[in-house]
Amino acid sequence: MSDFLIGTKCVQGGYTPKNGEPRQIPIYQSTTYKYDTSEDMGKLFDLEASGYFYARLQNPTCDYVAAKICEMEGGTAAMLTSSGQAASFFSIFNIAGCGDHIVASSALYGGTYNLFAVTLKRMGIDFTFVDPDCSDEELQAAFKPNTKAVFGETIANPALTVLDIERFANIAHKNGVPLIIDNTFATPVHCRPFEWGADIVVHSTTKYMDGHGSAVGGCIVDSGKFDWTKYPDKFPGLCTPDESYHGVTYTERFGIEGAYITKATAQLMRDFGCCQQAQTAYVLGLGLESLHLRIKKHAENALAVAKALKNDERIAWVRCPHLEGDKNYDLAMKYMPNGGCGVVSFGVKGGRAAAEAFMKQLKLASIATHVADARTCCLHPANATHRQMNDDELTAAGITPDLIRFSCGIEEAEDIIADIKQALDKI
Ligand SMILES: *Cc1c(COP(=O)(O)O)cnc(C)c1O
Repeated sequence: MSDFLIGTKCVQGGYTPKNGEPRQIPIYQSTTYKYDTSEDMGKLFDLEASGYFYARLQNPTCDYVAAKICEMEGGTAAMLTSSGQAASFFSIFNIAGCGDHIVASSALYGGTYNLFAVTLKRMGIDFTFVDPDCSDEELQAAFKPNTKAVFGETIANPALTVLDIERFANIAHKNGVPLIIDNTFATPVHCRPFEWGADIVVHSTTKYMDGHGSAVGGCIVDSGKFDWTKYPDKFPGLCTPDESYHGVTYTERFGIEGAYITKATAQLMRDFGCCQQAQTAYVLGLGLESLHLRIKKHAENALAVAKALKNDERIAWVRCPHLEGDKNYDLAMKYMPNGGCGVVSFGVKGGRAAAEAFMKQLKLASIATHVADARTCCLHPANATHRQMNDDELTAAGITPDLIRFSCGIEEAEDIIADIKQALDKI
């Protein structure tokens, strides 16, 4: 599969049935697996043989779909998780613990920011947040001796800033740590962070990968390129024996291409149990088969909407990284020459009240907290997710009271634009 283009990997990657086997990925709806002898089972528990024993850790349906995403990203190992949040949590907690430190972009999904700044902080992991547009010197100054990783989003949700992945990867590597990228909004169809030096990729598969608003899920992919063994003191969990698995050393047994995901499956899935359900993985697999077609349409529609609104005198401002003149246009062209995601943000002249009136008049676009759905949806954060904040607090959080996050679906652009225009006519 590795020689095929990304669209072919979407359709055919991950699962190749043998003679007489089901054409579509089977749903393994079983919590447990049967073995002939206790010796057979013992080998699994010692990680000496590979196989399934309990669906809290692993499930064959999930592994087929993870293998597809792994091929799409160009990685060496991957695992599905129960949500994007679980993927982000595992990606950090697999290599950092109490007393450690992470450098993260400040332009993050709100849930990720909360996970890092509140919950992981309570677990003793410290974060320094840096502006994605910071200078090399400012980024370097964020590192500490106990820094274990750098984290950022290809296209940030909802800020829509584009991360300079290559620059962040170079500086992370100079400091002996991996770069973890949340590639949810770009998808591997439009950006493959490993090609720019990133080491680990995470996804909320809930978004474009599923694409139909059907199933919450996440994924972690390892590029297999970060050499943990060069920094055994920094990454003892990967480079020294794991007593909870009879002294296995993950990098020795599974190599640098398999150590990270094996450890996350063996330890974190065992202890936290955030495995994706087989039914969910099946739905995700169906979504992935058309991801290359859908994300192209999402991105085209977003750009068409941005262009239509740019010259409308009732609109105060528009953000879409692929719109010429956007502050991240050059980065968008470098990392995603074929297009970005389906989300644009804009402000309606007249502030908070105008935004509220506008939203009421939309007919095709539905009001939803979700993004990346096949159906166009939108959200007015000042009136929904951030409604407890006053205008000053909103501005400090980088969300203007007039901001509308507009997630273009895969309907026809003409209809989406007409819906926006008729709503603007009425306010
Ligand atoms: C939604 C989202 C997440 C969280 O994913 P869930 O599947 O909702 O847990 C993480 N990162 C980004 C960029 C997201 O949009």
